[in-house]
Amino acid sequence: AKQAGGNQIRFFNPEMQEIINVRITLENELRLAIEKSQFHLYYQIQMDSANRVLGAEALIRWMHPERGLVLPATFIPLAEETGLILPIGKWVIETACAQIKVWQKEPLTRNLTLSVNVSAKQFRQKNFVEKVQSAVERYAVPGNLLKLELTESLLQYDIEVTIAMMKALNKIGVQFSLDDFGTGYSSLQYLKRLPLDQFKIDQSFVRDIATDNNDKAIVKAIVAMAQILDIDVIAEGVETEEQRQLLLGKGCVFFQGYLFSKPIPIDEFEALICRLTDT
Ligand code: C2E
Ligand code: CA
Ligand code: CA
Ligand code: CA
Repeated sequence: AKQAGGNQIRFFNPEMQEIINVRITLENELRLAIEKSQFHLYYQIQMDSANRVLGAEALIRWMHPERGLVLPATFIPLAEETGLILPIGKWVIETACAQIKVWQKEPLTRNLTLSVNVSAKQFRQKNFVEKVQSAVERYAVPGNLLKLELTESLLQYDIEVTIAMMKALNKIGVQFSLDDFGTGYSSLQYLKRLPLDQFKIDQSFVRDIATDNNDKAIVKAIVAMAQILDIDVIAEGVETEEQRQLLLGKGCVFFQGYLFSKPIPIDEFEALICRLTDT
């Protein structure tokens, strides 16, 4: 606390008050953003080693009326703290299912998978499984085209419940990817209990793979672990052909990153698919 003249105690200096004001404004704006349809999904393409398109990861963007495009790092943490991640996360899953439904109508896009990020609070909410099941059923989409990206820290908590939830969703085909893999502390013993379909190698191991021997060793270990568990491995943050080649050399055959495309709006994404598939 700060002495502010007289006997008055002020707990915050003006800078701190300003930070709090910005937070409150952001929170209020976030509440309105869903109602006003200011959220959009961008799509980042995922490729295999033969440069065939596998699908995409959906990444949320906020089109703010004054601030323009706002990245998730700016608002997802606050959305998690305030619980607003629940309606936002629901919107993401609904929108993803609606998109898979649209893709079902065209031969070019019919087999594309769509990966969606799920936050810890969202996964732990009551009825999460039912909410996903309901979306998959209402949109009548093949469940195996929806891939939920979970993080290691999210999975550590209450493993029995987690396994039961994942298995229930597996029943309707829903797939699971372990996002940011390698940044947590999961043991092989632990991972083998989880019905995972994919490991996603964190971009921090991809960035310096050309020069950092530790990163090379980590990637190799992740691929070896995945082979034991019969799980696919995708690398994120692949920016150069050199990185792609090195990953391929270590046995990683699925890729995502700026080398192929940034996350882009749906119309651009579909144009990209046409360009890559038609030739
Ligand atoms: P993430 O799931 O690890 O997503 C990967 C991030 O890396 C994305 O940032 C993506 O745009 C970026 N990226 C992709 N390729 C490259 C590359 O080659 N180089 C570099 N430097 N970066 C690349 P973005 O879109 O800003 O998202 C940041 C994080 O926000 C995501 O990290 C995810 O944790 C979270 N997020 C995004 N969308 C959602 C969502 O719908 N729900 C939830 N709960 N979280 C989301
Ligand atoms: Ca992700
Ligand atoms: Ca990631
Ligand atoms: Ca990340």
